[in-house]
Parts: sequence; C-alpha cells; structure tokens
Amino acid sequence: MTDSVVHVINGRQKKLMQGHPWVYRNEIESVTGEPQNGDLVAVQDFRGRMMGTGVYNDQSLLTVRLLTHDAREVNEDLIASRVREALRYRRFIRTREGCDSFRLIYGEADRLPGVICDRFGPVIVLQVLSLGMERYTEVIAETLLKEEAPDCLYLANDDPIRKKEGLPLYTRVYSGEMPETILIRENGILMKVDVMNGQKTGSFLDQKANHLFVRPFCQGARVLDCFSYAGGFALNAAVAGAKSVTAVDISEQAVSLIAENAALNQVKVEAVCANCFDFLREKVREKQQYDVVVLDPPAFTKAHANMASACRGYKEIALSAMRLLPAGGVLATHSCSYHMPEETFMNTVFSAAQDLHRQVRVIAVRRQDEDHPVLAGYPESFYLKSLWLQMLA
Ligand code: SAH
Repeated sequence: MTDSVVHVINGRQKKLMQGHPWVYRNEIESVTGEPQNGDLVAVQDFRGRMMGTGVYNDQSLLTVRLLTHDAREVNEDLIASRVREALRYRRFIRTREGCDSFRLIYGEADRLPGVICDRFGPVIVLQVLSLGMERYTEVIAETLLKEEAPDCLYLANDDPIRKKEGLPLYTRVYSGEMPETILIRENGILMKVDVMNGQKTGSFLDQKANHLFVRPFCQGARVLDCFSYAGGFALNAAVAGAKSVTAVDISEQAVSLIAENAALNQVKVEAVCANCFDFLREKVREKQQYDVVVLDPPAFTKAHANMASACRGYKEIALSAMRLLPAGGVLATHSCSYHMPEETFMNTVFSAAQDLHRQVRVIAVRRQDEDHPVLAGYPESFYLKSLWLQMLA
C-alpha cells in the first residue's frame, strides 16, 4: 500500500465523495511523505477522513487520479477486475445488429483513469494516457487478450496528452498482427478504419447510434453531412434511400475515406473537401435546399473561457443550416465539447431559429452512445450533445 497522504483543501472533499476521480494541483492542502510520481497515495479531507487511493503525479495538473473511493487496496487484481467489469457492461450493447466495433474502456467513466480502448472488428486499440496506468499496461493488455481474443492488440500511445503526464509518445503492436486494412461493421455498413493515421483511435464510435437515428428522415431526401469524417451520417443516409447525399470535411484523408466507404457499400455519396463554414455560406448564397442537414464539428472549445466564441461558432453554422432547410426539413446538430452545457447548446441553436423567425420542433435530444458511459459524480464523462430539430412552416 502507500504511506504518503495527500490532504485536500476544505470544500473539495464533496466532489470526491460524489465520485469524482481527480484532485487538481490547486486543491491540495499538503502532502505527507515523499511520494514519487506514479506512486499510490491515500487521499484525505481536511479532517483526515479517507477519500480513497489514487496515483500521484506532480507533473500533471490532475495531480491525483483516484482509483478507489474507499479503503480497497489498489493492485493488479483490482485493475484486471475493472477491465473485466468494463467488458461485462458492454455485453448489452454488443447484441446490436450489424455492429462489431465498440468502445470497451472509457477512462475514468470505467474507473480506469486515462485508459481508452476501442474494438474495431478484429483489432483492439489501447491508449494509456496517464502515468498511473502506464505501469498497469501489461495487466490491462493481457486481460483484454484473454477476454476478447482479438487478432491484434495495438498500443496507440502517441496522443500528445501523454506529454503532460511526462510520458513518451510511441505506438506498437502489442500482440498479433495488424491487418493491412481494417474493415468494421457499423449498423450493417462496412467502414474502413485507419488506426495508424486516423483521428481519435481511428473512428467516431460515440456517434454510432446517432448515425442510425438519421435513417428514417432520409428516404427520398437531399442530405448534407457537414464535418463528416469517415461519412458515418452520410452512409446511413444513403443506405436509407436518400435522393442525394453530400458529405463535407476539411481533411483530404477524411474525404478519401468517405469515397472509399461509399464504394464499399455500393452507395453514392458526393464527398467534398472544404471548410464547412465556407461551404454552408456558399450554399446559402446559391439558395440550395436540403431536407436533412447534419452538423458535427470538432470541439470549438477546450476551455470554459472560450464559451462565447464557441457559441458564436455553433450559432453561425446552425443559422446557415436552417436557411438551407425548408419547412419539414430536419437539422441534427452536435457539440462534442464537455465545456458546452446541454442547455446552453440548445438555447444557442434555438436562438438561430429565432433570428430567422422560424419555429422549430425538438425531435430528440440525444447524447454519446452507451459504450461511452456517463459516470455519476464525474460530469466530464458526458460530452456529446446531439440535438434533432424539425423546421416548421
Ligand atoms: N461526423 C463524424 C465525426 C466528425 S469529427 C462522424 O460521425 O463520425 C469532426 C470532423 O470535422 C473531422 O473529420 C475534421 O476533419 C472536420 N473538420 C474540422 N474543422 C472543419 C472545418 N472547418 N470544415 C470542415 N471540416 C472540418
């Protein structure tokens, strides 16, 4: 166990008692003992009450990441059982038809701080982003191999976040052989995943259920998918019988992925490489009309301070999208920034409709797919907002 104790300042014990896993540097009152970075420490409140055990790293703003909120001992068995628990939780979602790819471990929300693991068909991609978990890499990997038996387990430890933890950046095949191309199935659609060069761990699994949700609106429809990446929304729209589908992304790699994926599924998608802000403005100028518009931009704000400019960004694209939609048209708009509260996001989009003197109906307020679970007491785990509106006459 551990001899060192981190005492948190008075007032910060509440969030820990609610299950929050982080102690920030400026929340520490004092440290007893001389913990080395990566060591386990006990966390106590100002009265000396036990808050749990975590990993210490004074190089990180998140100086302690709690692994337990009670007196349980932290050891390899605990980590392995957390991995098994994460896999067990995914069982219900794995009964979904036509899907062979899921997030298996979602960091803090699975009580494995900084550990991200995705299954893409035959391949498992593991990312270890915290110093505390680095030393458990083997236990995590071996448990995954035993429980999941993938063809390949790939360590994608090249996220720059690791630098903040004082960790080196590298990637390597941990076990098995990496297939030349990885084809996954999502909602029965074939998709190519580029694990080595793609964004995130290779695909946006958090949008699977929302990709499917677009289908009923698409039959015979003109569909525009903005910020499309691999074409998740566009491909579902095409499969659902859209009259035309246009997918737009600023990344050339994404645009060629969309084209490849469309060919794989024998559907027609027009893939355009452009800045969506410009593209939308241009289509408004041309007085184009669509029946369905999807907006799924990257996080406009990674910090609370940028909220106002983020809101302006969301509003601008919502305004353009609404101008492209006649009465009856559907807008699906997303924010993947944790810092943007759901209500603020909704009000921002609603204000676009107000500016245009249009009324909208809320079809659905959705979020990230269930393999990206939300942990109570850890609001950071809820990040993806998905707002579906219908334009009224
Ligand atoms: N909709 C996708 C995920 C999109 S992620 C899905 O469901 O899987 C955000 C995408 O926006 C990335 O592919 C990124 O390349 C693209 N992007 C970022 N800024 C952009 C811009 N200004 N114009 C167009 N695309 C942009």
